[in-house]
Parts: sequence; structure tokens; C-alpha cells
Amino acid sequence: MITKQELRPRRSEALRLFRKAKIHLSGKERRSIEVADFGRHAFADTSLGVLVCVNTDRRCAKDLALWSGQMRPQHRHPPVGTDPGKEEIVCCRRDRVHRFIEGTRTRRPGARSPRAPRRACTVGREIVLEAGDPFTVRPGMRHGLQAGPRGAVVSAFSTRSTDENDLLDDLRILRITPVA
Ligand code: ZN
Repeated sequence: MITKQELRPRRSEALRLFRKAKIHLSGKERRSIEVADFGRHAFADTSLGVLVCVNTDRRCAKDLALWSGQMRPQHRHPPVGTDPGKEEIVCCRRDRVHRFIEGTRTRRPGARSPRAPRRACTVGREIVLEAGDPFTVRPGMRHGLQAGPRGAVVSAFSTRSTDENDLLDDLRILRITPVA
């Protein structure tokens, strides 16, 4: 949960990161930035700012702002009805992100260990994305994301996004953040 008092300064911080990445937003877009804390109320660890630019029945474009070391927890995009699951191309726009996916575990990962139960961090192949680097997440693939020490801005282009259907491996997490 995030309080209304917290929402405004967090949105301003996300906006500052977007501006640094030279992403300019309209007033409506600025007001629509979601601050997702995944119900953990652990802002420094597990949180991000989300701007949904477009999300139709067929496609979605979003920008994500992450503060230093913040994580998008491990999850996957399952089939929904006749849709085989979201396919997503993520492109780092500023600084660096550490992508974690299924595969052979990286022996000395550059990201710090997440503060989460072991069962919620089962994928350990690390892909480091610098500004301009893309990576494709296939439907059903387990994946997570952590910003580098200077934070990061990431653009995500995908088939239709239904975040509420994401399957998170940390059962303490809520994808949709309540605002009180
Ligand atoms: Zn995802």
C-alpha cells in the first residue's frame, strides 16, 4: 500500500528520472504515473514508477523508472484466454539494468542479492542491459529486473499488457498497489 501523501513525491522522483532520460511527458501523462510498491511498503527494495503510454487489445508501450537498486520482482506472463501470454521487448534508456532470466546461473552477478524468499528468486542468469540495449521476454519465461546503482529508465513494448494476470513468485506481493 502507498499513501496519497507518499504518492506525490514518488511521482515527482519518477518524473525526474524520465526527464534525465529525455522522455518528455504531457500533464495528463505526469498525473498518470503509477508508483507500484507491490504491496510490500519497501520502497528502496521493491518498487518502480510506471507510465503506460498506450495499452490496446493488441499492443502496449510503457516506460519504467527505477531508483538505485530497486527491483521488479520475479514473475512470468501466463496465457490469458486465447492469448498465449505477453511477449515484451524491454530496452534500457538510461544507465543500467540487470535482467534475470531462466538459464545457467551467473557465477558472479553484478546485481546485489534481493531481499526476498529463496523460492521467489529462482532464476539466476544475469543479462546486463546498458542504455540502448534491448531484450525480449517470451511468453511464460520467468524474469526479474534490478536497476543499477544510479537507477534506470526502461521502455517496454509488448503485446497487450494485463499486469493483474502476472504470476509473481513471491506470494507476499500484490501487483496492483492500493493507494490509501
Ligand atoms: Zn514481465
